[in-house]
Amino acid sequence: MGSRVVYRLIIIAVVLLVPHTAAGYVLGPPPAGRMLMTIDVDPLPYPYIGGTTTADFIVAAALLDWNSVGVGWRPDFNFFSYRFAPVAQSCARDGVNAVTTRYTKCGFFWGDTIAVTISSFDGNGRRVEADIIGNANLWWDYYDGPARYLFGVVLYDIYRVAAHEAGHIIGLDHEWTGSAIMAERYNDVDSIQADDVAGAHAVAFPPPPAASTLVKPSGSIATAWPTYVWYAVADSTHYYLWVDDSTTNKKIGRWYTAAEAQCPTGMGWCSATAETGATGDSRWWIQTWNPAGYGPWAGPLAFRAPAPPGHAELVSPSGTVNTVTPTYRWTAVPEATWYRLWVGDGGDPARITQWYRAADAGCGSGSCVVIPTTSLAAGPARWWIQGWNDAGYGPWSSGLSFTVVPPPPPGHATLASPSGTIVGLSPTYTWNAVPGATWYYLWVNDTMGNRIMQWYRAADAGCPDGVGTCSVTPSTALAPGPAQWWIQTWSPNGHGPWSLAMTFVATTPPPPGRATLFSPTGAIVARTPTYTWISVPGATWYYLWVNDSSGTRIAQWYPAADAGCAGNTPNCSITPPTILASGAAQWWIQAWNPSGYGPWSTALEFAIR
Ligand SMILES: [Zn+2]
Repeated sequence: MGSRVVYRLIIIAVVLLVPHTAAGYVLGPPPAGRMLMTIDVDPLPYPYIGGTTTADFIVAAALLDWNSVGVGWRPDFNFFSYRFAPVAQSCARDGVNAVTTRYTKCGFFWGDTIAVTISSFDGNGRRVEADIIGNANLWWDYYDGPARYLFGVVLYDIYRVAAHEAGHIIGLDHEWTGSAIMAERYNDVDSIQADDVAGAHAVAFPPPPAASTLVKPSGSIATAWPTYVWYAVADSTHYYLWVDDSTTNKKIGRWYTAAEAQCPTGMGWCSATAETGATGDSRWWIQTWNPAGYGPWAGPLAFRAPAPPGHAELVSPSGTVNTVTPTYRWTAVPEATWYRLWVGDGGDPARITQWYRAADAGCGSGSCVVIPTTSLAAGPARWWIQGWNDAGYGPWSSGLSFTVVPPPPPGHATLASPSGTIVGLSPTYTWNAVPGATWYYLWVNDTMGNRIMQWYRAADAGCPDGVGTCSVTPSTALAPGPAQWWIQTWSPNGHGPWSLAMTFVATTPPPPGRATLFSPTGAIVARTPTYTWISVPGATWYYLWVNDSSGTRIAQWYPAADAGCAGNTPNCSITPPTILASGAAQWWIQAWNPSGYGPWSTALEFAIR
């Protein structure tokens, strides 16, 4: 080759002469990451000696050939990517890795330079941008084999020049000793050689990291803020944690440096606890990264964090209800341990706001039921349910509307007795039960004015079902004379009307009558006999008098109950412990009630032998 032209790389001022082994490659600054090249050489088809193609495709082929070789310690077979697009600036550090041809070398004469690669570096001396510029003043062609000439002038093979400059981008310097595409001078080598391949594999360039493997969380967990644990990946400098949960996709999307994830050595486990919690059914992923690019995603791994309950489905009331205290029923929500019932009516938009334990609402059956005692106003009403558990509040249910049309209050009572003239001052009041009435109000006036005003439960009046008769016997005694009484009914639907008045005359009962004695009589043996007499109607106390042969031996009052004849029992009897003297004896009984003393009985004689 008579006219050899020198490549010149303007960035590499000093050639690094590393000790040669079998190969003769020389390393330059390594790339910081993969390179996307923007090719803008000549998109027009051109009949080259080797066939018809475009300069742009030839450059792309050179890049792809380096990809097939692989770049770095663990060869990256996707180091170069490219696109065909216009390039505005061929020399600027503008984030675009341009491949162009120009008539000047960034405004300077080309001299004998065929092409240059202009690079920019990061703080670690690694190449972050590279622009390849070819000398547009030269004759270019595309062919295999030895260098060719026309009229004594070199025809430069686009492929081998592009491959050479791309070799600089991947981190190779000039090859001085062997046969290589990276030889300093244009020559007969038309493809990437073994030395070039060895050099490419020696470049200090890690490929993007491999995929991690997720460890935990998985399955059901007890916290919304789990520690995420995954396997460290060699050469991964960053890890991206992505978590979807039951509320939204990408609940968490956050980068961690390997140091933050406590795995800077690239070995063992990485772990991180995100600031954001996860709720319910969740999935997570990890993506690795280093300056060469993104690694593959790992995951997802599913886990279930605690979640608030879902929303309840309301069942009833809806439509029209005929009570002011309706029963509320809804479908149980799994995991809800409490429910809040909210009811608004025309009088109060928050008439009922009440929490219920799920167990108290019977939700274990799948259906919850509560019956608040708070009465609603008549008219439109609306209700909602909200669930809760340790993980928080669930959403409110949709509202369910209903209309309260209360049934009428109970009717008036019809009185039965007392009426007319009665004996006694504490009569029993009796009236006919009223359907629906749950309470009755008794009002009694006597000669002194109002004497009794007292509410009675229907159950306490013996008429809980609203049928039959009701009766109560207040202990309050009336003044003797005329009296009047009334009953008013009540139910949850309101007060019923007062009954008509019923009048009666309370009279004092007479004193008790004379007792009739039964035994002892005649000759007896017992020294402490049992005294038996026929009970006297209305008597509440009895006075026993006994004389024996020594004189008065017993004079003692006994309540009728102690004598066993408090009610309508026919006979009374008492056995005093007093021992009687031998000989003749006689006894008497006098009855008593609050109206006075009855007459003494006639004496009954007996004798103790
Ligand atoms: Zn070079």
